[in-house]
Amino acid sequence: MNVVDRTIVVVGLGESGRAASAFLARRGARVIATDMRRDEDFAREREAVDALRALGVRVVLGAHPPELLRTADAIVVSPGVPPTLPVLEDARRAGVPILGEVELAARFLRGWLIGITGTNGKTTVTAWIGDLLTRCGYCAHVGGNIGRALVRVVEEVHDARCFVVAELSSFQLEMAETLRPRVAVVTNIAPDHLDRHGSLEAYIAAKRRIFRNQTEADWAVLNADDPVVRAMVEATRARVLFFGRQEASTSEVECGVFLRDDRLVLRWAGEEWELAHRADVPLRGAHNIENALAALAATLAGVSLAREAEALPALAEALPLRDALRAFPGVEHRLEWVARIAGVDYYNDSKATNVASTLRALEALEGPLVLILGGRDKGDDFTRLRPLVVEKVAHVLVIGEAAEKIRAALEGVVPLTRCATLEEAVRRARRLAPAGGTVLLSPACASFDMFENFEHRGRVFKEAVRRMLEEEMTPEGRSDAC
Ligand code: ADP
Repeated sequence: MNVVDRTIVVVGLGESGRAASAFLARRGARVIATDMRRDEDFAREREAVDALRALGVRVVLGAHPPELLRTADAIVVSPGVPPTLPVLEDARRAGVPILGEVELAARFLRGWLIGITGTNGKTTVTAWIGDLLTRCGYCAHVGGNIGRALVRVVEEVHDARCFVVAELSSFQLEMAETLRPRVAVVTNIAPDHLDRHGSLEAYIAAKRRIFRNQTEADWAVLNADDPVVRAMVEATRARVLFFGRQEASTSEVECGVFLRDDRLVLRWAGEEWELAHRADVPLRGAHNIENALAALAATLAGVSLAREAEALPALAEALPLRDALRAFPGVEHRLEWVARIAGVDYYNDSKATNVASTLRALEALEGPLVLILGGRDKGDDFTRLRPLVVEKVAHVLVIGEAAEKIRAALEGVVPLTRCATLEEAVRRARRLAPAGGTVLLSPACASFDMFENFEHRGRVFKEAVRRMLEEEMTPEGRSDAC
């Protein structure tokens, strides 16, 4: 794609819009970046916006002026901007090509692309594949929806022998045309973001675009336990490697990475090779067994490309996969162990912004738990928490806007106390948790009523725990922290 002296409008100045603007400006394009937010809304991003101006980017705030878009040579849209925006429709009718930031990256990308999509587990699987490849001795860069725009990764990878491991949201895939992951992973599909996609079918269709440009030389890594993902075998020309942990759905499958009697195995043409034991999976919860299986399958598929189609069983024997798997530290804010204080473990699961995620955490941990819930309600049904709360939770502490709704949903099921702040909840939790118990922040709510985002909420929790740890520390050192 030649961008020199072309006028390119970048719509939306979030992380990926800013990255795309800088990327294009450095390649000699005339870049105009527009955002509906006004100058005063950029207080926290001031430096980043000034840096763009210093690169020669014209920044237009408070509007996406239609005439600018209509007369551009191309438009790059951020994933947060709906492609159906009237000014975009208007420009499209005028014949202006419209690309997503990921599509822009795809056109310049070097190296083997491993793309990961699905409803849940994307970030964990993406980070895990990057970690496995690195520990197996390969160059691997991680980006995309995981917080680092893909164009930033593309800018730093000059070696075609590197892996680029990209988390891809359905919004990013919707705008992708030439993107061709050499390994495409789909973790699972559950109804999500239906407000934007309109229907489950449209959401599945967006995810399916990950296979669009794949050939027989590529790999698709599909969840055999998930009927919707399993059926995607029809949507790709690539070779398929399944993964799954359920005996019922995987026992008949010829090729894949499966859980079988507590062992993680590669099955290839009916024969099996042990890759690791269940006890080697360092993250808690059955969902993380699934994530480990997906990451192992994608790593084997990727390395077979790098080693020019070496057979997977030979790779299973040659690569240090077991040690690599054990060494994965996990991803921050996802069932992250923080510290042990006076025999009580503290876990930060701030990423659990809905009931389904909190249920995964409750399944993964042993009781007795003191559970911190609450924040901004996303319309979830908190009564779904009841069975596991009854089974494992000794006390619930609620914070934020949803406190009253949660109290009503769990009334009579568990003792419950309302707290004004997260710090107060942590202090109370300490008094309530019995030795051998666990304090879990897994709010089942968004964070925006009290925090900038879920990362901020997680950091506040961890700081509060660490402060208690410091108070607790005796010269003999009674407690541990990560
Ligand atoms: P994503 O990037 O897709 O949001 P993450 O890896 O950030 O996924 O995990 C977010 C939450 O989703 C986790 O805290 C957990 O509750 C849930 N989760 C993770 N992996 C899975 C999985 N394989 N199946 C179901 N739920 C999962």
